[in-house]
Amino acid sequence: MESSLDTRAVHAGRADLAQLGVHALPIDLSTTYPLPDVESGGDAYEALATGGREAPGDSLVYQRLANPTVRRFESALAELEGVEEAVAFGSGMAALTACLLAAAEGRRHVVAVRPLYGGSDHLLDSGLLGTEVSWAAPDTVAAALRPDTGLIIVETPANPTLEMLDLTALHAQAGEVPLLVDNTFATPVLQQPARHGAALVLHSATKFIGGHGDVMGGVVACGPEWAARLRRVRAVTGGLLHPLAAYLLHRGLQTLPVRMRAQQEGAGKLADQLAGHPAITRVYYPGRPECDPAGLVGRQVSGPGAMLAFEVSGGYAAAARIAAACKLITHAVSLGGVDSLIQHPASLTHRPVAAEAKPDGGLLRLSVGLEDPADLWADLAQALDAAR
Ligand SMILES: *Cc1c(COP(=O)(O)O)cnc(C)c1O
Repeated sequence: MESSLDTRAVHAGRADLAQLGVHALPIDLSTTYPLPDVESGGDAYEALATGGREAPGDSLVYQRLANPTVRRFESALAELEGVEEAVAFGSGMAALTACLLAAAEGRRHVVAVRPLYGGSDHLLDSGLLGTEVSWAAPDTVAAALRPDTGLIIVETPANPTLEMLDLTALHAQAGEVPLLVDNTFATPVLQQPARHGAALVLHSATKFIGGHGDVMGGVVACGPEWAARLRRVRAVTGGLLHPLAAYLLHRGLQTLPVRMRAQQEGAGKLADQLAGHPAITRVYYPGRPECDPAGLVGRQVSGPGAMLAFEVSGGYAAAARIAAACKLITHAVSLGGVDSLIQHPASLTHRPVAAEAKPDGGLLRLSVGLEDPADLWADLAQALDAAR
């Protein structure tokens, strides 16, 4: 019997520790490794630099090509996402960059559905990497595909307004074109997109996976063929994850299910309280029936998560005053940590997004942490009052 996700989160990626005679994850900081001889060293270099997972003789050669601490985190994340492999990067944006470069070989066209994280939107819209984007609605993805489409990119629940997409329906439209799902908001605890047809599952590990606001990373969970392409891009372009960061992210996985459920419980309470407040015109939270018309919570994603957003009457000026008036909740970008953060997407995380797709000026995004929800509500209520 497959053990539960809670159990696997604690033990995944640690199979070799007992044999090494250690209990905690060892951190290997070597930038280079002694080579047995020129020939086998050269063979190992060749294998790793072209995307191989392991080299003959287990030689590691150089940290940009392979690192055991990073590999353990990758295998743990892959196990939780229900896929064979994962490839880790120095940030979520480095992970997305690698996916675009790996897909591009002759196929520079990308179809994407808004909203996306502002940085992802900007990377695609700017064409900085030589890709060309067509923005599609969830039901016009098939119509937007071209012979040179290399990737379909979506986020669900999406940043910042928590829109949810039916991945099975998207996969049916995608045909042979690989579907990349940014799973940062749901985490593998709530949603495993590969089970619904995603070829690539991307995380900003900086967020819930790290969970404590002290480590940056990105990771892509996928099958062996994509993993080899991504490792090759990583080896060549150098967007790698530092072993100390890999250690923290791997440790973060152990408490991810517990944190996710507790933060989700707080978010549900706050969403209800916000919805009843006279200064708030709209609440975005997947747990509210009007935000989940297709009934995806319980079917595709096992819970509504710990992120929510809301619009205030009074628009930009009122939202800015509320963000500044919060005391317990920190006014800061990023999300998914044990402490609650509030931020104004239109001026911060989604600042580079084109005018027609920019979030409303009255929108605030809240990442709910592990504080007592009653204390969080007291802080929000005083900020809403102070801003009036
Ligand atoms: C933060 C974020 C990213 C970018 O990740 P970094 O680790 O900041 O580079 C990508 N997607 C989503 C949904 C995010 O929230």
